[in-house]
This record gives sequence, C-alpha cells and structure tokens, in this order.
Amino acid sequence: KSTQRLDKVLSNMGWGSRADIKKMVKQGMIVVNNAAVKDPGMQVDPHRDILEVQGERVLYREYMYLMMNKPQGVISATEDKRDKTVIDLLSQDDRWLQPFPVGRLDKDTEGLLLITNDGQLAHELLSPKKHVPKTYEAYVQGNVDEEDVIRFREGVTLDDGYTTLPAELKILSREDEADGVKSHISLTIHEGKFHQVKRMFEAVGKKVVYLKRISMGSLRLDEALALGTYRELTSAELELLG
Ligand code: URA
Repeated sequence: KSTQRLDKVLSNMGWGSRADIKKMVKQGMIVVNNAAVKDPGMQVDPHRDILEVQGERVLYREYMYLMMNKPQGVISATEDKRDKTVIDLLSQDDRWLQPFPVGRLDKDTEGLLLITNDGQLAHELLSPKKHVPKTYEAYVQGNVDEEDVIRFREGVTLDDGYTTLPAELKILSREDEADGVKSHISLTIHEGKFHQVKRMFEAVGKKVVYLKRISMGSLRLDEALALGTYRELTSAELELLG
C-alpha cells in the first residue's frame, strides 16, 4: 500500500509526535499538494504527494539507521516472550518504520548495534561472503598470551568442528584482581558464528567474562553514547557502510 496517514508519515520523519502534528494541522501549518490540511489522518502517498510544513518542502525518508550502545540484559531481536529487546529501548516514534537489529549480540554482550529497516544493507553487512570485520573488546579470565595470538591468527577449531578464519587478537593489558588474573584484549573477526568470540576462547581453554563490540566494518561505536541509548547515524557514517 503506497498511502499512509499524514501524521504517521510526518512523525516518522521527525516532525514530532502525532499529537504535535495534529496541533500543526489545526494551526494551518501543513499543506499537501498546495492545499491546507484539515485532517491529520488524511491518506498521502509520501513518494508522490508534495508535503510542506511551515512552507518547507518535506522529503520523504523511507529508511532509518540508528547506532545503539546495547546494554547487558536485553535481547538483539524485535520480539521476545520473556525479555526486553533492543527495539523496546527505542522511542515510540522510532519504531514506526519497523527497524530491526543487524545481526545479534548475546544478551550479556554490550556495545555497537546497528538498527535499521534497510534489509539490503543488513544483508550485505551480514553476508558470510563479505567477511565484514567486527572488533570486540573483552575481559578474559587468565593470562591471554602470544600463543593465543598465534592460534587465533591461524584459526582455532570450535566445539562443533568448525575452524575459524584468521582473526587478529591484541593483548591490551592484564589486571591482577582478587579472583585472579584477567586479560583485557581486542579481537577482530571476519565472520559471525554463534557465540563466536566466547567459543574461540573456550577453544583455547579460557573464559570470556565481559564482551563489548567496538566496530562493524568501518562503523565505530560512539563512546559518548551511554549504555541503552542510541542516535541516528551521521551521513558520513552511513557512507562508510557503503
Ligand atoms: N561473540 C560472542 O560470543 N558473543 C557476541 O555477542 C558476539 C560475538
């Protein structure tokens, strides 16, 4: 269906809530095809009709691209029977265009999550053929050492027999804590098997105790985003994603 309610279309494009749009209609601020609008619920075809708000031509936007700093405890899915999902963290207005998370982070993983309704882009980022690099930072129990760096570079065999593609492991620091040594590391992988980072460390007998995604392709997590918050990608970031 190519027509939608005018208030929904404008609200999707960031002109305010549906209540705001209703007020603007009352004040005669909204014009469709050169006629002042009377009914905020009128059907419009956002691709064909000419919409103006306060004399400003409105260009329809079909796609949305959000960067979220995913917190622990929420599921990377659009729906879940028991738990909160990343979509539940979006404002009502940001849900209109039916965005979904691109790929999955575990419930206890934090960090960069792209949320969009652009199926084509999602497909390209997730395609196993494209090998889009993903970088994670993690705390791992025990002493991650040069041996592990070499093994990850050569590929490790996971519990299901799969051997991973070469991955770049960097040891950032080691911390002596009351419950033993922890290694702070970064790891870049070029594929996305289920629980891959955790399983790669399991393959070398070590346990990930904290995991955060830092980047996906050329898109980097904006460290200014608090956990559980999100923002629109800038046009520069969107270009980086190709
Ligand atoms: N690897 C994991 O083990 N978990 C994630 O959430 C992402 C990558």
